Amino acid sequence: MTAKIRLYVDHPLSEGQAVALTRDQAHYLFGVMRQTTGGLVLLFNGQNGEWRARIAEAGKRGGTLICETRTKPLQAPPDLWVLFAPIKKARTDFIVEKATEMGAARILPIHSAFTNSDRIRQDRLQAHAIEAAEQCGGTYVPEVTALQKLDQVLANWPTERHLMFCDEAEAGTTRRLDSAVPGSWAILIGPEGGFSETERTRLGALPQTHVVSLGPRILRADTAVVAALTIWQMQLGDWT
Ligand code: SAH
Repeated sequence: MTAKIRLYVDHPLSEGQAVALTRDQAHYLFGVMRQTTGGLVLLFNGQNGEWRARIAEAGKRGGTLICETRTKPLQAPPDLWVLFAPIKKARTDFIVEKATEMGAARILPIHSAFTNSDRIRQDRLQAHAIEAAEQCGGTYVPEVTALQKLDQVLANWPTERHLMFCDEAEAGTTRRLDSAVPGSWAILIGPEGGFSETERTRLGALPQTHVVSLGPRILRADTAVVAALTIWQMQLGDWT
């Protein structure tokens, strides 16, 4: 029998390792998915790859799995951050989910001049990233950082990290991503209101900035995240 269910666990994984389940995981595995003792599950923790584990104890409020063999090594994504301005809840959830599936290494919600939401539920967004990694076969979970001000992020911008600035003012121009620049990167997508002129000037003055157009139409922020990740992954990432 092959294991189909994949679970992220916050626990070291190695041969013979016993892994205790949380109440929620036990409910999901035994209550929802109807798994029983002896059944197989795939586990990953973002560090030790993917492991096949057997259910040793199944209870209402908990359970134990024992790791048997490693089924996949850790497959870390390319060194790519995704910076985005939170929009409406469902669309923000979508962005985190899609960025995880598409292979972002780190997800950074940012507050810019025209960002509407002042706070995010970082724990909820992190849970979405975990869920997305569980279903897409990933062995890595990107960290979702706390909401930070764009100004501050730019003031501390790492010297070595290129920034793919997707600017709606470039809609219809031919500014494309330069595929001859490997290394560490970040994608920046603005909110529904776009970027302010001050932000545009600031970004333009940063030597790491590469201004990019995402085609002739103005995309919604959630679409823009997926489009930008596709372009980057095809030209500089792990789709090449
Ligand atoms: N309200 C703005 C559009 C914001 S779209 C306006 O009408 O001008 C949300 C974000 O998606 C933008 O800030 C940008 O980062 C990205 N985006 C959307 N379409 C784009 C395009 N054609 N080129 C580059 N970036 C784009």
